[in-house]
Order: sequence, then structure tokens, then C-alpha cells
Amino acid sequence: MNASLLINENHRIQTQQLDVPPRLLLGPGPSNAHPRVLQALGMRQIGHLDPQFIELMNEIQSLLKYAWQTDNPLTIPVSATGSAAMEGTLANTIEAGDVVLVGINGYFGHRLVDMAGRYGADVRKLTKPWGEVFNLDELRAGLEEHRPAILALVHAETSTGACQPLEDVGDLCREYDCLLLADTVTSLGGVPLLLDEWGVDMAYSGSQKCLSCPPGIAPFTLGPRAVNKLSQRKTPVPNWYLDMALVAQYWGTERTYHHTAPINMNYALREALRLVADEGLEARWARHRHTAELFWEGLAEMGIKCHVEAQYRLPSLTTVCIPEGIDGKAVTRQLLANYNIEIGNGLGELAGKAWRVGLMGFNSRPENVTLLLTALKEVLA
Ligand code: PLP
Repeated sequence: MNASLLINENHRIQTQQLDVPPRLLLGPGPSNAHPRVLQALGMRQIGHLDPQFIELMNEIQSLLKYAWQTDNPLTIPVSATGSAAMEGTLANTIEAGDVVLVGINGYFGHRLVDMAGRYGADVRKLTKPWGEVFNLDELRAGLEEHRPAILALVHAETSTGACQPLEDVGDLCREYDCLLLADTVTSLGGVPLLLDEWGVDMAYSGSQKCLSCPPGIAPFTLGPRAVNKLSQRKTPVPNWYLDMALVAQYWGTERTYHHTAPINMNYALREALRLVADEGLEARWARHRHTAELFWEGLAEMGIKCHVEAQYRLPSLTTVCIPEGIDGKAVTRQLLANYNIEIGNGLGELAGKAWRVGLMGFNSRPENVTLLLTALKEVLA
């Protein structure tokens, strides 16, 4: 044989056909995908410019607008995870030197700071202890002091379980001629969210939380004021993949090739969003609330506290205070090994202090609360 064709066999490992344990994903995400979403994911492919696929894209855009309660024409799924959609909002609207004010009351506020800085923003911070939220007076004081071009807030802080109220924040931002950016990764499809009514100018989300779709495709929307800022840029968007002036040609009327859309992930997202529409937002939000309340009551009966004040607690994600003397990580390990239940450990300031329990989308059901509380009682006994 020709020596130059010698095949390196070192990495040719012998493996079994893939199998995975039947985990119940009650952590900060991903949550278990709805069975119908998994079915859609496995459907045969069509081309990404096929007329049928283009019809499916229209449906996704419409259903996404419903889920977010927005009429923004530029409402699309980014072909990547939530962080890419997050980066997309910033990349498109920040020009070097723009003041961006970020509310930091958890882990994802820090990520916004990091990203905004990389796009040349003059980043300013408003901070609160992890688990607390900003009130309107605090936000007003921040806008008054920093006069930002963008105010970025995390609606549902997955690291703390706190829900940042957004009602009236859009009006406030308009007073200061500032765009409002909201991270809705852990709220879309599970927590009341009215983008247009609240005056949110840009938002992003993920597929793997309350939408019960696998990770890999990320809702993204820009309202008219944000689109205006994008169209008035003096410099090109410094990120080719996320440049909405280009991506919008694929998702807009032209349907011009930009990148190859992940066909099956779009099938999955369409089915996930169809399930949201089928159930109806109000019913879905009420279901998440009801399930979370059952969980909180069960914890209270066990004498276990939640980290966030009841008024600001997210129904989709609860930070549970680890009782004194308990090794939190040992408990999560046991739940996984012995009960196939995944919950999350605390992140950042809450590391070692709290567990993170997600009751999201398809998983937001009373039987899962019973399963988790029963397992937790046994592990803590
Ligand atoms: N923002 C929040 C609030 C999140 O919870 C997450 C993921 O957990 C992200 C952003 C980033 O999303 P992804 O991990 O899908 O990139």
C-alpha cells in the first residue's frame, strides 16, 4: 500500500450504539423535550429552501410572535443556543462607545457585561444581591446617572430564580431614549411575558427551558426602535454569523441563502411552539405557577426555605436553600444516581448554598413535584 495512505487507527474506538439513561431533567435546563417535539425532530429532512420549509419558517415566526406577544417583524430563531441569540442582540445594536447599562443580580448579568464589552460598549453596572430584583426607582436612578443607549435586564435569572418585573420599564426607557433588552431564556413559554405591552425592544431566549425543545435553536427578536438603530449603524455588525441585516434576508421575504438552517431543530421548535399555542399562554402560565406552588408548599412542609422572596419567585426555576449541615452536591449526586433525577447545584454566589430546581414546560407537572419531593425526603432522611 502507498505509505502516504496509511490510516491512523488510534482513534477508531469500538463503541456501542448510543443509549442514555431515562433522566428526569429538573435542573436549570435543559428540561426534557416534549415527546411530540422529539418525534418532530426525527422526521425526514427537506431542503432548507424547499417551499415546504419556507412555509414552516413562516409558521415558526408567527408562533414565536404569539409566545412572546410581539408583532416585531424581525422575530426569528437563531441557529445556535441562547448565548448566540444573546450575543446577536448586542452585536447588532452596540456601536463602539455606546453606553450599555446592565442590571446584575445573578450570573447572566455578568455574561451580558462580558459580551457587551467585547463589542466595544462602555459598560456600566447596576448591581443587586443575587436573588433580588431592581425596582423602578433604582432603574430610573441608573438611567439618570448613566444615560445609556441600552438597558439590559435578565427577566428570569436562572442562577437565582428571581423574576425581574418589566412592566413600566419600557416606558421609563423611552423617557431616556434608551433601548430595553430582556433576557427571557427561562421565562418564554412558562412565565407571563408581554414584550410589546411592556415596551421591550429586543429579547432572546432558548429552546431548552419552558419550550421543552432540545437545546440548539434560540428565539431572537428586535423591535422597530432596535431595527432603527441597526439600520443607522456607521460600522458593520462585527459578527458575520449574527448580522441580522444578512440573516434577515433569509428569514425575510427574499429567503436568500445565509447559512444552512438546522432543518430538524426547526421542526422541533415548530412543534414546541405549536404546543404552546395549543395550550394557550394563560393556561400555560397558570400551569407553571400551580406546579411551582405545589413544590414550594412541599418544601415548606419539609421545613426547607426558598432563596427568593415569594413575590419575585420564578415559577420555572426555584433556588432551594440547602439545609444546615447538608452536603448539597452529595444530594444532587444521589438524586441522579439513585433516582435518575437531575437538579442543579448553586452557581456563583449561591454555590454550596442553594439547589436549583426547574419545573419547565413539559416537566411542569404535579407528578414530577411528588417524585422529586419523595426522592429528596429519602435522600435527606
Ligand atoms: N441566559 C439565561 C438566563 C440562561 O439561563 C441561559 C442558559 O441557561 C443563557 C442565557 C444561555 O443560553 P445557552 O446556554 O442556551 O447558550
